[in-house]
Amino acid sequence: MNMLRVLVHGASGRMGQSLLRLSAEQPDQYQVVAAVTRRTPSPRVVDGVPHFAASELAGVPAFDVAIDFSLPDGFDPILALCVERGVPLVSGTTGISAAQIEAVGQAAARIPVVWATNFSLGVAVLAELVERAAAALPGWDVDVVESHHVHKKDAPSGTALTLGEAAGSAGAPVHYASLRAGDIVGEHTVQFAGLGERVELIHRATHRDVFARGALHAARKLAGRPAGRYRVRDLLD
Ligand code: NAD
Repeated sequence: MNMLRVLVHGASGRMGQSLLRLSAEQPDQYQVVAAVTRRTPSPRVVDGVPHFAASELAGVPAFDVAIDFSLPDGFDPILALCVERGVPLVSGTTGISAAQIEAVGQAAARIPVVWATNFSLGVAVLAELVERAAAALPGWDVDVVESHHVHKKDAPSGTALTLGEAAGSAGAPVHYASLRAGDIVGEHTVQFAGLGERVELIHRATHRDVFARGALHAARKLAGRPAGRYRVRDLLD
């Protein structure tokens, strides 16, 4: 397998740290050629990885794919850089605006791009199960409850909104509840409540490496594909 030159955008964050560690564990598969953080220096970016501040983005060396887990205000510059260089983008940044999501669609005419609120295989399967339950249980009350660590900035989580779309696909209104507590990596419950009975579909992530592994896998699968917008489930095998 060819070595992939990766730009990690948001390298000092919780997800960025997972990405740097997992890449370093597979040096024959992934080489981080640029680790970008809001500001430099960041003690969290390990020695030997070229480190750049967001303001230096235009000058980063050549890369095969960018992986972005930053914050909404960092999203436009990395998308623009990938379009300018004709390089694929994998982004898991949540809380981005409708205009930013539309910009993903426009960029997809020029580069391969996957923007997803969750890179775990379990959540991809959960979304399919939720769609089936929604179609089979018309008229039931639908709620999405999510729990995350206290540092998470957006609420409801991007994953909750994605699951809510699936849960409401048969037309039912969807209600959301968000809990912020301790170091919870991510838990989502989709509840369908009828008269005298209740169905709960639950996903629990216990380690954020699942998202980083999924993003690295998606990066590998995206490189060399034609321009277009891809979903995580398009890149699974
Ligand atoms: P964090 O706050 O720990 O880290 C954010 C990182 O982004 C830091 O390295 C920071 O320096 C960088 N950053 C912030 N603003 C920037 C800017 N303007 N330009 C460049 N870099 C900038 O956050 P986190 O917990 O690592 O999560 C990052 C994002 O990933 C969040 O949006 C979170 O919701 C999302 N997330 C997505 C998934 C998924 O599977 N899609 C999983 C977990 C987290």
